[in-house]
Amino acid sequence: MNLSTKLSGTASAPGGPSVRVQKFGGSCLYSTEQYLHVASYLEKVCSEGARVVAVVSAMGKTTQSLIDLAERVSPNPSLRELDLLLSTGEQQSIALLGIALKARGILVRVVHVFELGITTDNRHGSAEVIRVTMDRLGRWLEEFSVVVVPGFVGATEDGAITTLGREASDLTAVLLASALGVPRCELFKEVDGVYTADPGLVPGAQRLAHLDYQDMLELARSGAKILHPSAVRLAQQHRILLELKTLHRPDTSTTVGAPEAPSGAIPLALTLRQDCLIARVAKEHQSRFSGWLRESGAEQLVLAQPESFAPVGRPESPASASWLLATDRRGFPLPEYAQAEEAAAVTLVGPIADDVIQRGHEVLVSSGSTARILGFARSQRAARWVVSPADGAATCRVLHRRLFERTE
Ligand code: ASP
Ligand code: MG
Repeated sequence: MNLSTKLSGTASAPGGPSVRVQKFGGSCLYSTEQYLHVASYLEKVCSEGARVVAVVSAMGKTTQSLIDLAERVSPNPSLRELDLLLSTGEQQSIALLGIALKARGILVRVVHVFELGITTDNRHGSAEVIRVTMDRLGRWLEEFSVVVVPGFVGATEDGAITTLGREASDLTAVLLASALGVPRCELFKEVDGVYTADPGLVPGAQRLAHLDYQDMLELARSGAKILHPSAVRLAQQHRILLELKTLHRPDTSTTVGAPEAPSGAIPLALTLRQDCLIARVAKEHQSRFSGWLRESGAEQLVLAQPESFAPVGRPESPASASWLLATDRRGFPLPEYAQAEEAAAVTLVGPIADDVIQRGHEVLVSSGSTARILGFARSQRAARWVVSPADGAATCRVLHRRLFERTE
């Protein structure tokens, strides 16, 4: 997201009803019953005196089904037409929620993509927002209790429909909150916040009350698919507090915002990223490889110094260096002088003391653990153990038990 994006709109009038921006993701909207559920929740919020901008995603896994559909017509669907197709998911969704709200007698205005006021460039599939104009939306908020808008979509100056990238309705919600001057953005998801590890993977995971923007970004980069990173960056820039919650427990959440009072060097969470690649490159090719990487646009998680591998694995030959890339081998051919190996990264995020790292190392090299450790690298607020993909989940569990559950 471009820092110079122009955001303009009207903040809620002093003394007038408060405005809440609430985003409902596809995982809250997987069936028609869920639309009724969201509608009754919104009715309750309005009865408490708030006006709501409801940003909605496509129903359930609609976006993926539409991509699959396009790929049955062409293996490489043209991006302009694909955006046109994908936008129908959100269009269906806003209309359904609008119908459900009107049936309850709620004053609602459903806003389609051309009324929305999000202008983008023409990079279909991952368009950049160039302008957000909320004047109309601000007026509708004076007139209606709920304004329902599609997430994920925008339009070019020429009137073509664009999309902002997969899962980008988080970004739409933050864009609207900042343009409307609303300091808080509620994002309804599958789970009620951020946990110390993925609760589906690690049964003992605990919900965190608060995370700062930087740690949330590191978690997202390291594999936690909870929040769209551009949404976090934009929220940080505009100081918008994000609240992650789930519909059946709207009173618990994890907030993401400015750092709170430091609580010592206690790590916050562990996350697993499976789609990584270690590229080992001999000394004489290293600068060439760095240049190649910049051009390829591959996401680089760490540039691992050979010695950082030493504590947990076989020491690496000083004649080569390793890069850990956040991408899998498929569709990403490396130059022939780089040796590639598929990998998974287990990242510990937050303030981390040396003894915590040491405990992590110990449990991984202890006799009970069979994981093949390919490397380790540390930065200020992240420590990353790299293992083979088959060992990713078990490594995450073992580290969580040792570092968060304190069973021994
Ligand atoms: N429906 C879009 C997607 O699945 C956008 C979103 O869900 O945020 O990618
Ligand atoms: Mg979706």
